[in-house]
Amino acid sequence: MENKKVLITGANRGIGKGIAQSLLSSGFQILATSRKIENFDFNHENLTKASLDIGDTNAVAEFQKVVEEFNPSILINNAGITKDNLFLRMTEDDWNEVINTNLTGVFRVTKLVAKGMLKQRWGRVINISSIAGIMGNPGQTNYSASKAAVDAFTRSLAKELGSRNITVNSIAPGFIETDMTEGILDKSIIDKIPLKRAGTVEDITSLVNFLCSDESNYITGQTLVVDGGLFMK
Ligand code: NDP
Repeated sequence: MENKKVLITGANRGIGKGIAQSLLSSGFQILATSRKIENFDFNHENLTKASLDIGDTNAVAEFQKVVEEFNPSILINNAGITKDNLFLRMTEDDWNEVINTNLTGVFRVTKLVAKGMLKQRWGRVINISSIAGIMGNPGQTNYSASKAAVDAFTRSLAKELGSRNITVNSIAPGFIETDMTEGILDKSIIDKIPLKRAGTVEDITSLVNFLCSDESNYITGQTLVVDGGLFMK
């Protein structure tokens, strides 16, 4: 896998950092982004760090040359935000900010890599969505709408790119211990999870490793739920 190059958004902390570190130890070369390059607190010989606000159309367009030079064959759309509020109190700004980052950001960054993957006739797009996009969650109409849309984007893109040996999947985490869930993982939530614990970053990174490997060659267009059993069909 040492010749495989991976672009990961939001890789300075939480799930994205875990993915970057895990893939680095598996021998991948990583281009990792955060809104501010100073936000990274780790280094590696195969790690290139970059600043990129995926919510900013012009900044993403300017990033095209960096991506072309790096030439990734794997994209992990991980960066995401919440702006929670009950629907009646949710402002249009909070709605737009979440859709712009979580959904349109995925569109923008995927555009940067798709042509390169088509030329290589091999690629992996892995989108980090959320169980909230499947179950719904009070206070998260904006966030759950953005994540459900990412799952739908995943299915459509998988159909478009499949003939070129490019797979597109999403991972829908349940409650994972990161900054995003700090202070909300109380007993009332844990009690609802059949495995009786919150997820760890490693619970997600093991699946990402699998999806980046040739072991997952025949899986595309899927949303893979990693939530300790919180949601069952
Ligand atoms: P964190 O809040 O810990 O990290 C979010 C990451 O996204 C940071 O690296 C942040 O970088 C980056 N980011 C946010 N906004 C932007 C932006 N506009 N441009 C570029 N980067 C940005 O979140 P998690 O690690 O918990 O979440 C990672 C992904 O997993 C998200 O998509 C989230 O929705 C999803 N998820 C998380 C769950 C959980 O329980 N933790 C559950 C389900 C899904 P910086 O602020 O430095 O720019």
